[in-house]
Amino acid sequence: REEQMQRSERLRVIGELASGMAHEIRNPLTTIKGFLQLSKASGYNIESWYSLIMDEINRMSDLTGEFLQFSKPHRTNFRTESLNECVLKVISLIESEAASSGHEIHFHELTDNIHMMMDQDKMIQLLLNMMKNACEAMVANGSIHMRLSRDQKNATLIIADNGPGIPNDQLDMIFHPFFTTKETGTGLGLSICYKIVQDHQGTLEVESELGKGTRFILTFPLAGSLHQEEDNLAVG
Ligand code: ADP
Ligand code: MG
Repeated sequence: REEQMQRSERLRVIGELASGMAHEIRNPLTTIKGFLQLSKASGYNIESWYSLIMDEINRMSDLTGEFLQFSKPHRTNFRTESLNECVLKVISLIESEAASSGHEIHFHELTDNIHMMMDQDKMIQLLLNMMKNACEAMVANGSIHMRLSRDQKNATLIIADNGPGIPNDQLDMIFHPFFTTKETGTGLGLSICYKIVQDHQGTLEVESELGKGTRFILTFPLAGSLHQEEDNLAVG
């Protein structure tokens, strides 16, 4: 019974995603078709619309690429890795792009190495998506502060930017697939993030203040504490 419920819930979600995707693809197609019809009717040179058409095609290409990431049956490949090193890797991946917009990235390591079970590729993708969003939100000369800490049970990573913030009425929507406020956004980044956090049994929260900035708060249960509980049970 439970399995059936899960199956029908899954099918419902897939149905919603598919219709969202179809909608997102139809818009650029309609635009391209319009351009082509106009150019034929008016005898205009297609060249003048080249970049507009190219933009729309790139958008569809981004969308389908990210959608595949999002919807493919995912195998997670968990190993014990250092979360600190993961953050450093992501910073090195995005540093030059951030610097080209004048953004600064600060990493506050408030703990020594946190080793936890993770799918490192997915974890990197998660953090990259968040950093990209922060960079895009800040326009120019912003700063991102990443704070990594831990207590006995959880690792906590805070990613804070001093961008424009997110209006209250949008805070609930940002994790929805296809929600975007960007002209060339796909709206899939945070949905992917959410799924990756769930895969790691973590939590993902957002706090934002208009004109001040946005912080995403990620927590992950530490493999160590999970093991310890099992040990305690065995002893008890
Ligand atoms: P996309 O980046 O393609 O728009 P996302 O799912 O990554 O899609 O983000 C959805 C929306 O959430 C963005 O369009 C933006 O409005 C908002 N958002 C996400 N991160 C931030 C941030 N750090 N600051 C301000 N707004 C943000
Ligand atoms: Mg994004």
